[in-house]
Amino acid sequence: MDQKGINTTCTHTGELEDLQFKGAVSPLYMSTSYQFEDVAIKRYPRYFNTPNQEALCKKLAALEHAEAALIFGSGMAAISTALMAFLRADDHIVLQQTLYGGTYNFAVTQFEKYGISYSFTNGWTVADFEKEIKPNTKVIYIETPSNPLLTITDLKGIGQLAQKHGILSMIDNTFASPINQNPIDFGIDIVLHSATKYMGGHSDICAGVIASSQENMDMIFQTAICFGGSLSDYTVWLLERSIKTMAIRVKAQNENAMKMATYLSESRDVENVYYPGLETHPDHELAKSQMRGFGGMLSFELDSSIDASLFFKNLRLVKPSMSLAGIESTMLSPTQTSHALMTPEDREKQSIKDTLIRFSLGIEEMEDLIQDIEQAIAKVKSISVPV
Ligand SMILES: *Cc1c(COP(=O)(O)O)cnc(C)c1O
Repeated sequence: MDQKGINTTCTHTGELEDLQFKGAVSPLYMSTSYQFEDVAIKRYPRYFNTPNQEALCKKLAALEHAEAALIFGSGMAAISTALMAFLRADDHIVLQQTLYGGTYNFAVTQFEKYGISYSFTNGWTVADFEKEIKPNTKVIYIETPSNPLLTITDLKGIGQLAQKHGILSMIDNTFASPINQNPIDFGIDIVLHSATKYMGGHSDICAGVIASSQENMDMIFQTAICFGGSLSDYTVWLLERSIKTMAIRVKAQNENAMKMATYLSESRDVENVYYPGLETHPDHELAKSQMRGFGGMLSFELDSSIDASLFFKNLRLVKPSMSLAGIESTMLSPTQTSHALMTPEDREKQSIKDTLIRFSLGIEEMEDLIQDIEQAIAKVKSISVPV
């Protein structure tokens, strides 16, 4: 395990030495064909063991305090591979109620084909998970902070619950990033990431990560080479480059989100703000006990007199956008995008209102972001109020 400071790990861990030219950064090896005779490792991209893949995986394992890690072509490739590595016919899985849409879709469209049964929890307390455990439950799957309401699940509690029942625990750690939260330290077995988000950080890379013990990663590897979800070496190299600045970026995004959450909660045009860094957040103390920073994501509800679509249309700096975690600030309406396939009743059950806006904070100056929001609200008001 890597013991260095976070920025040193981000910058250096796993880097490849350029023995030929003594260049400053890892050389990129694009070869898909490697010698097979008289070598210790048979290298091939789909075997996740090209020089660049192996180098990046060392950095990823160090970042998640894990023994080993693998890098995939997308977050969903990592998530589906991890799940299918451990689930078989007649097994059962307990999934947290609020899940990333793609993972939810995977559960409801794929598990049945393989004879795997599943339950969604009714909330996110440890008791909510325990209630759903059956004799054949093999995996507990959580997401914290969750999307879009930033609820917090008790990592230590879930780790202990899983251990008590001899079940594997998995977490989607995308929203926190390894900079803010290391679930393995709290007893969670397997950590998953969409590296498309904070790890890439510039909205230009699609990738995924699994990190865990060597024993678990050996199991996952057997499934991974069959599903073939490896990442091309060029993108691996770009991702290594992105991760060098991850801690600096995420800390700036944490800071912006905290300031924005405070500003919005004081605004008369905003009804509710959801951010685990706010003392008014119901899980604030729990978040403090397991996160180093509260993340760059928050959600809020505009006052019902303000039309959300008109608000989006009048933003000049903040981009209405589907993705998140980039260095540029983005917003979206879960009702219109990520949670559009849910029925209004299901959305209501999860307290997702039509006026809810998910805000991914970038690294822009706070004054510019606030000014953009204020001018957009003023514009909407001037359009909607009859003269
Ligand atoms: C984006 C995302 C995913 C899926 O990742 P892809 O890289 O798009 O496949 C999974 N979980 C969370 C929380 C995400 O935000």
